[in-house]
Amino acid sequence: MEHVGLHNLNKFYGQNHVVKNVSLEVQKGEFLTLLGPSGCGKSTTLRMIAGFEVIDSGQVLIHGRDVSNVPANRRGIGMVFQSYALFPNMTALDNVGFGLKMQKLDARTTRGKARKILAEVGLESVIDHLPHQLSGGQQQRVALARAIVREPEVLLLDEPLSALDAKIRIQLRELIKDLQIRRQITTIYVTHDQEEALSISDRIAVMNQGVIVQLGAPNEIYARPADPFVATFVGTLNKLPGQVVDTTTGMAEIAGHRMTVPALIGRAGRVTLGVRPEKIRLYAGDANLGTGEAIFSGVLKTIALFGSVVRITVLLGESEVKIDMLNKEGVLEARAGSEVRFGVPVENLLILN
Ligand code: ADP
Ligand code: MG
Repeated sequence: MEHVGLHNLNKFYGQNHVVKNVSLEVQKGEFLTLLGPSGCGKSTTLRMIAGFEVIDSGQVLIHGRDVSNVPANRRGIGMVFQSYALFPNMTALDNVGFGLKMQKLDARTTRGKARKILAEVGLESVIDHLPHQLSGGQQQRVALARAIVREPEVLLLDEPLSALDAKIRIQLRELIKDLQIRRQITTIYVTHDQEEALSISDRIAVMNQGVIVQLGAPNEIYARPADPFVATFVGTLNKLPGQVVDTTTGMAEIAGHRMTVPALIGRAGRVTLGVRPEKIRLYAGDANLGTGEAIFSGVLKTIALFGSVVRITVLLGESEVKIDMLNKEGVLEARAGSEVRFGVPVENLLILN
């Protein structure tokens, strides 16, 4: 069931057309992320949904009702910002209870509800602390509690984790997802961080220059990017220059190697192909080579340990090819400067242009 509907939303700042005909349907209980580079119009879109920004044309519907002219505080929406935006002179408990108090809820019920939700976000031990006595992560937990204490139908979050360091970011990301699932809150989340978007969303709308360029489940976006922008913005991508040699068979010369790429049938001239680092296989000395793969040889440049994953960079002529492998026995024994072979499965080549 459609819960939030955006219909041809447009926003201009002077001559600058920053949101262009954005249309989107968010289902009830869905977690949808607006993902795109800085300045592409994500926050402006979110603020129009929230009612903090005038809509130049188009509509925002909630449960099918046009709320475009309904004031922000009457749209049934909770919002979390990057800057926690807490009242500095109020305790965590009072920050969370403030909205309920404004709704004329009695003091006891207010405290009870605020206390309960603070426990749910893991802050029971610091409810009497002022914001300056809390860490960034704790302050954002308060902001999250404040946004959901009134049980909004829709939760909007604008880069809520961007000010936090890596470990805390992951903890909070998991908390947000847990709360969202437990409470089945329809959520629209804004981020420029593709990894965050891939890990947390039911669907992602990738935006570029005010336009939604692709809408889909995380792995649809990752595995079948709609255009070169999405392919390079989401995830890491190796680019290989190619030249089609035979249009009818898809035979091409790619980084100096001839191979048949069925997806190139009907194409001619120069092409750029892309391949994800984890699709490439590195071969040790006399290993059997796979079939359906194009085999390249290059010089191993660096080995970087990411923890569970190892990223190996290989020089292939002028270009660098990144290969991701699980950190299993032997992987870290490869030596910089040595000649290596690697296989690119032909079916995993993305055609970028
Ligand atoms: P994002 O959140 O994706 O980084 P924004 O929605 O904040 O992008 O901004 C989109 C574009 O609109 C940017 O070019 C930004 O400079 C411009 N912009 C945002 N807010 C205003 C404003 N209040 N006045 C003028 N231009 C603005
Ligand atoms: Mg923004």
